[in-house]
Amino acid sequence: MITPLIPANEWQRLHALLKTGLLDSAPDPQLDRLTNIAQQSFGVDIALVSLIDSRRQWFKSSQGLDASETGRDISFCGHAILNQEVLVVENALEDPRFFDNPLVLQAPHIRFYAGAPLCTTAGYRIGTLCIIDSQVRHFTDQDVALLRKLADCVEEQINQRQLVELRHTLEASESRAQLIIEGAGVGTWQWNMQTGVCEFNEPWAEMLGYRLQELAPLTIDTWKQLVHPDDLAASYILLEDHLAGKEPAYEYRYRMRHQAGHWVWIHSRGCLLGRSEDGRPMTMYGTHINITAERVALEQLERRNRALSLLNRLAFELSGTLDEQIQQALVLSCEYLRLDIGIVSEIIGDVYAVRWVAAPPAVDISPGTRFVVANTYCQLLLQQTGILAISHMGGSPFQQTDCYRQMGLESYIAIRLEVGGQLFGTLNFSSVAVRTEPFDDTDRMFLGLLAHWLGELLNNKIHQERLNKLLDQMPGMLYQYRRWPDGHSCFPYSSNGIKLIYRVTPQRVQQDASVVFDQVYPPDLPQVIESVHASEEQLDTWYAQYRVLQADGSLRWVEGRAHPERLEDGSTIWHGYLVDIQSEKEAELALAASEQRLRSLFELSSIGIALNDFYSGDFIDVNQALLDATGFDKEQLLTMDYRALTPGQYQYQDQLALEEVQRHGRYAPYEKEYLRRDGSRFPVRQQGMLIKDANGRALLWSLVEDISELKKVERMQKEFVATVSHELRTPLTSITGSLGLLEQGVLGKLPHKAEQLIEVAYHNSKRLNLLINDLLDIEKLAAGKTHFDIRAHDLHELVREAIAMNRPLGKGRGVQLELITKPAREMVLTDKDRFIQALSNLQANAIKYSPAQGKVTLTIERVDGKQLRVRVQDQGEGIPMDFRPRIFEKFAQADSSDTRQKGGTGLGLAITKDLIERMQGSVGFESAPGQGTCFWLDVPAAEESAQR
Ligand code: ADP
Repeated sequence: MITPLIPANEWQRLHALLKTGLLDSAPDPQLDRLTNIAQQSFGVDIALVSLIDSRRQWFKSSQGLDASETGRDISFCGHAILNQEVLVVENALEDPRFFDNPLVLQAPHIRFYAGAPLCTTAGYRIGTLCIIDSQVRHFTDQDVALLRKLADCVEEQINQRQLVELRHTLEASESRAQLIIEGAGVGTWQWNMQTGVCEFNEPWAEMLGYRLQELAPLTIDTWKQLVHPDDLAASYILLEDHLAGKEPAYEYRYRMRHQAGHWVWIHSRGCLLGRSEDGRPMTMYGTHINITAERVALEQLERRNRALSLLNRLAFELSGTLDEQIQQALVLSCEYLRLDIGIVSEIIGDVYAVRWVAAPPAVDISPGTRFVVANTYCQLLLQQTGILAISHMGGSPFQQTDCYRQMGLESYIAIRLEVGGQLFGTLNFSSVAVRTEPFDDTDRMFLGLLAHWLGELLNNKIHQERLNKLLDQMPGMLYQYRRWPDGHSCFPYSSNGIKLIYRVTPQRVQQDASVVFDQVYPPDLPQVIESVHASEEQLDTWYAQYRVLQADGSLRWVEGRAHPERLEDGSTIWHGYLVDIQSEKEAELALAASEQRLRSLFELSSIGIALNDFYSGDFIDVNQALLDATGFDKEQLLTMDYRALTPGQYQYQDQLALEEVQRHGRYAPYEKEYLRRDGSRFPVRQQGMLIKDANGRALLWSLVEDISELKKVERMQKEFVATVSHELRTPLTSITGSLGLLEQGVLGKLPHKAEQLIEVAYHNSKRLNLLINDLLDIEKLAAGKTHFDIRAHDLHELVREAIAMNRPLGKGRGVQLELITKPAREMVLTDKDRFIQALSNLQANAIKYSPAQGKVTLTIERVDGKQLRVRVQDQGEGIPMDFRPRIFEKFAQADSSDTRQKGGTGLGLAITKDLIERMQGSVGFESAPGQGTCFWLDVPAAEESAQR
C-alpha cells in the first residue's frame, strides 16, 4: 500500500478547507441529493463527498456507508486530490497503491473507485466526490465526464454556501461598527451629491447642540449654514482635490456654530463612494468628531509657547539702555496681550508716578505723570498680592473713582512690581477696547514672569547705580583694560575715577586707550609698557608704580594692580584698579630721607649705639663707634648678644637696668665695663630705651659712651686734689702757724710797721686756707667723694655745738649768738660734721653781715612733720633783690662795697646747699630790706625717716 502524498500547498489548502466551515457541519440536503444522484446514476454501492482534513477524510455527505470518516493514510481520496483529473481505479487488487489497503482487504472490500477533486474558488482541492463499488468495473470516458459534472455541482454548492456565510459575517461586523460609532459619539454623514440630500446621525446633531429632527430638512445647506464662513472656502478646495483623485480622502478641521452661539471644532473625514455611468460623483460618506477640547488645549499650548518665546526674547535679545529695554518690552507685551497701553509705574509714598509708557500717540500720558494712589486702580492692586484683571471696566466697581476713566479705558490688567523684594510699583496694560479673550492661566503666567524679569532688570539697575556711586567714592579708578596682539588696546570699562587720574572720560577710552599712555610721565613709560607685556606673557598680576602728568605740568604718583585673563580671540583683558599714591609716596620719600638722616647720625655718632632684641639680648644693629670701641667687626657682633661683651661682675647692674626698662620704658645712665675683642676692658656709660618694631617685637636702643678719657681726667683731677691738699696745704699751714706765732708776739714786740705787715700776711694766709678748704670741699662734693655718715642726732645738741664753735668769731665782731628755742629732744638723720659745717657757714655769714653789737638768733621748728628747720636770723642789711637768684651759685657774691672787706670766697652757700641736699634736706632764705636776713636749713626728722 502506498500512503497518499501531502500536497505542496497543504497549509493553504487546509486553511481554505477550514474557511468553508464544512468540516464537522450538519448534513446538507443539497449535497446529499447530489451524492444520491451519483450513487443511482452509476449503480454503485457507495457515493461520498469526502473532505481531506490533515489526518482524516471526513464525509460531508455519504450514501451507502455507515462510517463518517476514515484515516487519511488509507484513503483513496487522499490520492485523488493530488491531481486535477478524476482518479479511476477499476480493480484495486491490481493497483500497487491499494491492493493491500485494509479498505480493500476488509469491509467495504473496495474493488472499484472513481473520485473527482473538489476545488474552492481559490483553486485549492479540498476533497472529492467519489463513487465506490465492491465489484471490479469498467469506467468509460462518458462516465468520467458525468462524474466531473456532478462534482462541479458539488463545488458550486460548497462555494455558494461560503458566500452566504460571508454575508452573515459582514452583516454582523457592520452592526458592530455601527454600535461602536454610535457609542463613541462619532457623527456620520452621507451626502447624495446629485440630489443634495444628506443623512446625519443623532450624534452629528448633538455635537452642535441640536436634536436631528430640529434640523430637518437635512440637505447640504443645513451643513453650509452651520460652518464658520471663514472655513468654508478651504473646505471646497479639499473636496475638489479628493474628487479629482489627488487625495485618497477628504479631511478637514473647521469650526461649526453651536446652538449656544460659540464655535465647535470639528474633524471631518469623508470618502466618495461610486460614480454615475458618466463619471459624476454620486455619494460621499463620512464622519464628524468634536475636537474642540483638543483644539483649545493646542491653542493654549501655542499661546504658552508664544508667551515663553516672547519672554525669552525680552530676557536675551533686548539691547540698549535700561529705558530702551523697558520701552521695547512694553511694546512687545502690549502686542502679545492685545492691549494698546503699557505702563510701568513707581509708587512713592501715596504718589503713583508713571515711569515708562508704551501707548499709541492719541493717548495722553507720558513718563513723569503723577496721580494720587488712592485715585487709581493700583490701590486695589496694592492691597492684594496677585493680579488685577478687568476686561469690562464699565461693569467694574471702580468706574467712578479712577482717573483712567476719563481716558475711557475698558480693559485693564495689572500686577504688582517688586524690586529686591520691595514694592516698587505696578506694571499695567490697558485698552479703550473690551478685551474679548478671557484672562487665563497663560496670561497670568506671562504677567508673573514679565513682572519678575522687570523686577530683576530694575534691581540690577538699582544695584548698578549703587555700585557706580560706590565706585565713584573709591579713591582711584576701577577698570577693565583689553589689549590685542597687534598692540591695539582699550578700556571696555572704567569708573569715573579715570577723570581724576588721566583727565579723560570713561567713554573716551572705551575704543582706544592710547590717550592714557600719552599722559604717563615719559621716563616712566617704558617700565609701564614692559610690565604690561610681562603680565600678558606670564598671565601674572600686573603691578606698577609710575608718574602721571598733570594739567599744570606737575607729576603725581599712581599705583596699579590688575589681573589678566586670556580671551578666545587672543586678546588679553585685565581687571584692576589704579590709585593716586602721591601723598603716600611723598611720605615714603620723606621717611626714606629722614631714615637716611637718622642713619647717618647713627653711623657718624661718636657714641656707640646698639640695637638689641630685648628678650634674647642679640645685637640687631650696631654703629661704627661701637665697633671701633670693641674692636669687633659688624658681622661678628651681629652673631653675639650683649652679655658676651659684659664682664660677669656687671650682671647684677644690667639686670637692674632691664627691670627699670620694663617699668619705665628707659633706663638711666649707669657705668659699667665692656670687653674688647682682645679681652681687655674699657669703661662705658650706658643708657637706653625700649621700642617696639612694626611687628611688635621688643627692641632695646642703647647709647654706649666710651668714658675711658673721662675716667682718665677724673683720675688726674683726683691726683691734682691730692697734690693740692698735700703739696699746697701743708706748707700753707706752717706759714699760717708761723705768722700766727709772730702775730702773737712770740718773737717779742715787733716794730709797728712789721706788726701791721705780719697781721695782713696772717689774715690773708688764713683766707687762703679757707679758700683751699672750700675748694677742696667743693671738688670733693662734685666728684662725689664726700663721705656721709648718716645717723640720728639730737638737733638741739648739734645747733648748740655749732653755736659754740662760732662764738669766738661773733665775739670778735661783738655779735651775740643765741638759740632761743627751748631745749627739746628732736632727732634728725644727718651726718653730724657735715651738718655742723653747713650750719657754721650760715652762722659765719650772719655774723659777718650783722652790724657791730648785733644779735644773731637761732630757732628750731618742725616743718610739716617730716622735716625740722633751723633758722639763723641776723640784723644785717639783707640781700639785694637782684642778687637773690644767684646767691647759691659757686663764687657768687653780692656786688657791694663791703664784700671785699668782709672777705669770703663765694663758695660757702654753694657748699652748704650741696651738703644739705645730699643729706635729703634743703636750704632757703627770707630777706626783707632793712630787716636782716634769715637763712634756714631743713633736715629729715629721724622718726619719719626711720618709718620710711
Ligand atoms: P662769702 O664767702 O662771700 O660769704 P657765701 O657763699 O657764704 O660767700 O656768701 C655769698 C654772698 O652772699 C656773700 O658774699 C654776701 O654778699 C651774701 N650773703 C651771704 N650771707 C649773707 C647775709 N647773712 N646777709 C647779707 N648778705 C649775705
